[in-house]
Formats: sequence, structure tokens, C-alpha cells
Amino acid sequence: MKRILIAGGAGFIGSHLCESLLNEGNEVICTDNFFTGAKENIAHLLGHPYFELIRHDITMPLYAEVDEIYNLACPASPIHYQHNAIKTIKTSVMGSINMLGLAKRTGAKILQASSSEVYGNPDVHPQPENYHGNVNILGPRSCYDEGKRCAETLFMNYHIQNNVKIKIARIFNTYGPRMMINDGRVVSNFIVQAIRNREITIYGDGKQTRSFQYIDDLIDAIKALMDTEDSFTGPVNLGNDREISIIELAEMIIRLTDSKSGIVYQPLPQDDPLQRKPDISLAREKLKWEPTNDLEKGLIKTIEYFKEKLKI
Ligand code: NAD
Ligand code: UDP
Ligand code: UDP
Repeated sequence: MKRILIAGGAGFIGSHLCESLLNEGNEVICTDNFFTGAKENIAHLLGHPYFELIRHDITMPLYAEVDEIYNLACPASPIHYQHNAIKTIKTSVMGSINMLGLAKRTGAKILQASSSEVYGNPDVHPQPENYHGNVNILGPRSCYDEGKRCAETLFMNYHIQNNVKIKIARIFNTYGPRMMINDGRVVSNFIVQAIRNREITIYGDGKQTRSFQYIDDLIDAIKALMDTEDSFTGPVNLGNDREISIIELAEMIIRLTDSKSGIVYQPLPQDDPLQRKPDISLAREKLKWEPTNDLEKGLIKTIEYFKEKLKI
């Protein structure tokens, strides 16, 4: 049995990870400041004898004795991470320093939830790990993008200088049950709009692309990454390599929900990446992993969740 700390454990991805690691017989300490997470996501785990919840903000030091740390703490949706840009940077930078200091003191292995956003609006397609990205340093997304980039730099330097055992996961767009209704990301927005028969809000002309990964595939991948040999640090892309335009996604969700929703076009936010698709050959090779949930199957499960949530 391992004792595992999950920072950001009450969020969308974190709550699935808490559940999965508990089910495998580990002791899980979940820490979260509940900015974009919710107690509701982990309420079903609260009575578990090996589950512990600590309300804590990782920009402050945290002392605990653990074997492994997953650092997932950071708002992930553009509307939420832009709400307080400075706080987002502090969470990625000061929060990573504290989690790395904890890993250094305890000898724990630590995994960073990095992002495809380190590639910015990519001019290389699909994106391999050795692509250095195209981020607007001063744009509205930079608090998140540069925060994640600096966090990777911190992780690598704690590894080189202090021998901290690190893993860097570059996560691509992931969706599934337990996204908040007001999360603001495209999959939850479109599903909630479609179920309510309200207009689907497409930003820009809808020709921009993303590649969507179902949550269960990501959980398998990050656990497999944590279990790789110590010499493998990543970064490694984790995502689904089926690319789809936002307009195709809207049409698919309208069809799967049998919705009467129409489509309304709104301005494309500044610096919104025009295309994104992971090159996942490294993950395939090193993790012996690949996504197995196709988009329709994953969307159907997510739609069921939101129908229940909206009581329809
Ligand atoms: P989320 O917003 O649901 O979860 C983030 C969690 O971190 C929330 O519970 C939030 O309350 C908590 N948090 C934020 N700031 C904190 C702080 N200072 N101290 C303690 N807790 C804090 O988002 P998610 O989709 O579950 O994302 C989890 C992680 O994965 C994030 O680091 C995100 O950047 C990364 N990621 C997610 C995606 C995706 O598509 N979901 C893609 C790339 C990277
Ligand atoms: N830290 C923490 N928990 C620990 C150990 C350290 O939160 O168990 C924090 C501590 O506040 C410190 C940061 O991690 O500021 C970085 O630690 P490190 O050992 O790298 O640096 P230093 O202690 O020299 O600042
Ligand atoms: N998007 C959209 N309508 C929405 C929400 C998002 O058209 O209601 C677009 C957004 O402009 C982007 C894509 O969908 O091009 C994915 O957005 P999301 O915020 O989910 O993730 P990210 O841009 O961080 O990949």
C-alpha cells in the first residue's frame, strides 16, 4: 500500500484519480482549495478509511509524509484560469515549488499535470514532445501556458539538481463525467446547451480543431507514467489522436442528445489555438498504452452524467 498525495484532487481529473488509486488499495490524501473543484466530486469517498481530505492552497507550504505526489492543482478552463491570472501563475509556480520541496524532503516520486498548452498555437502539427511551442508571452492565455511551462522547468531542475524523481505529463483536451456545468470548456458547454435545447455557442468559424480524450484513458495513462522506471521523466503527451473540428463536435453532440438546439457563432477568443493533435508515439512506446474509448462512446457516457445532473 502506498500513501499518495493528490493536489487538486477534488477537481474533474483529480476526483477520478483519487477513486482509482483508492480502489487499487492505496491510501489517498486529497488536497484542494475548492476554487474549481467541489466536495461533491469526492463526497462518495469521504467515508473510506484510507481517504483523507485537506482543504489547502498549494501556494502555501504543506507538510505530509507520502510516497507519491500527483500535482493536478490548477484551474484548467480558460474562463477560470483567466479570472485571476496572477493567482493562476502563483499556483503553477509557487505551488510546484512547494510540491517539489515536499517531494525532495520525503523522497516521494512526483508527477506534474502539464498541458498541451505549452505548445501554444502550434505551427507544427501534430505536436511531438520535442516541439518547443508558439506561446504569446503576454496574451490572455499566458498565465496558464507560461505557468505550465515554468512548472516543467522547475520539475526538470529539481530532478537534475536534487535528484527528485519526476514525471511530466502533457495532457491534451480531456472530458467526461464530473466536469462542472459551468466549467466553460467546449464539451461541457455544448452538452449542457444541447440537453437544454439552447443555442450551441461556437467561437469563431468552428473550423479550429482539437483532439478529445475520455477521462478513463487519461487515468490509465497517468498511473502508467507514474509507474515507469525512474530514469524516464517525460515529458510525454497524453491524449487521443483523433482530431475533430469544433463544428463537427457540435453536430455530433446535437445528434447524440437528439437536441433541437441551433448554432450561434461568437467571436473567437484571442490566441485560441487553431489546431491541436498529439503525437502519442512516445506514450505508446513507454507506457504500452493507447486510448481505447472512442469519442462517440465517451460522449454518450458524459451526456448521461449531465442528464442526471440536470435531472432530465
Ligand atoms: P479542474 O479545474 O476540475 O481541477 C483543478 C483542481 O485544482 C480543482 O479542484 C481546483 O479547486 C484545484 N486548485 C486550483 N488551484 C489550487 C490551489 N492553488 N491549491 C489547491 N488546489 C487548487 O481541472 P481538471 O480538468 O481536473 O485539470 C486538472 C489538472 O490537469 C490541471 O492542472 C490542468 O491544468 C491539467 N490539464 C487538464 C486538461 C483537461 O483537458 N482537463 C488538459 C491539460 C492539462
Ligand atoms: N516545502 C513544503 N513541504 C515540505 C518541504 C518543503 O511545502 O515538506 C516547501 C517549502 O516551503 C519550501 C519549498 O517547498 O519553500 C521548496 O523547498 P526546497 O527544499 O526546494 O527549498 P527551500 O526550503 O530551501 O526554500
Ligand atoms: N469553444 C467553443 N464554444 C464554447 C467553448 C469553447 O467554440 O462554448 C471553442 C474554443 O474557442 C476552442 C475549443 O472550443 O477553440 C476548445 O475550447 P476549450 O476551452 O474546451 O479548450 P482549449 O481551448 O483550452 O483547448
